Amino acid sequence: MRAVMKMAPGPGAQVVTNAPEPELKDDEVLIKVGAAMICGTDAHLYEWSKSAQDFNPRLPLIMGHECAGTIEAMGASVKGLALGDRVSVETHLFCGHCYPCRTGNAHNCVNMGLLGLTWDGVFAEYTKVPATACFPLPESIPMDIGAMFEPAGVSVHALQRAGNVASNSVLVCGAGPVGLVVIQLAMLYGASRVVALEVNPHRLKMAEKLGAIALDPREANVPEFCRKNFPRAGGVDVAFETSGASTMLPTLLESVRREGRVVTVGHPGQAVPVDIASYINKKGITLKGVFGRRVWDTWETLLALVETKRLDLSWLITHRLPLDQFTTGIELLKKDAAKVLLHP
Ligand code: ZN
Repeated sequence: MRAVMKMAPGPGAQVVTNAPEPELKDDEVLIKVGAAMICGTDAHLYEWSKSAQDFNPRLPLIMGHECAGTIEAMGASVKGLALGDRVSVETHLFCGHCYPCRTGNAHNCVNMGLLGLTWDGVFAEYTKVPATACFPLPESIPMDIGAMFEPAGVSVHALQRAGNVASNSVLVCGAGPVGLVVIQLAMLYGASRVVALEVNPHRLKMAEKLGAIALDPREANVPEFCRKNFPRAGGVDVAFETSGASTMLPTLLESVRREGRVVTVGHPGQAVPVDIASYINKKGITLKGVFGRRVWDTWETLLALVETKRLDLSWLITHRLPLDQFTTGIELLKKDAAKVLLHP
């Protein structure tokens, strides 16, 4: 079958036509991929950045983890799913038996497999996953939108971690797809004002279109801007870090008010020191992070918002390409793309 494969350590990946079709175990399903999306993580893996290497990718590997598709075959012990079911897929393949899994934190499973990193991914005609990783999609959700439930779910999780943002001022660092959906959700959840930080002018414009105050952090003193524009509180109530830039966390810690909240989503490629005494103790900031989505409450929340048309994700798809133009898709992410969809 056709697939995008990373064969060896180092930059690059290749489109092959002879990838072996997945063989099913009893608890697994075979999915005919209907739509797949390129994520920043795929670009990191393609470029072989440190943050991608930190996931210990298992090579050779079929890349990709954001997809929706149709169940084509099932292992003997699979229950609750049927042939022809349309599903989106959770990237964090959880064991269901470890302590986090048993206590409601399966997204942070001790034995986690990662689709498209340690487990063959979705940039292919077919992919296989444990049946427990499938999220059935109602007929009302098109395949291409279903393929975006994975990244958009990260944004929902970020808002869950932040707590109530109604009437709050919100700072969102990074206006990639996850940051843009965080902006949409913050507004939907009743934030009073949203400020977006982004260096890519196309993405900055998208944030502005959503109604955010758009700033290029290279051209503005962000903490000063926040203190000036939110003088009563002395900064923003909540800040989200979605860019993964290791330099931005100190800026956000400076930009939130005393007793404010910071949620980190992007994975910086290096350790970021935090002045605990100044920010966490004395300033009283609550610092939390997000890894993936919560199974399955984040997914259900997102579905409810999309199904009722409270949240529109369709505009995020800026480019549609056939699978063999994967490399073009990676290049587009550095330019004016938000989400690049791959048709297998
Ligand atoms: Zn587990």
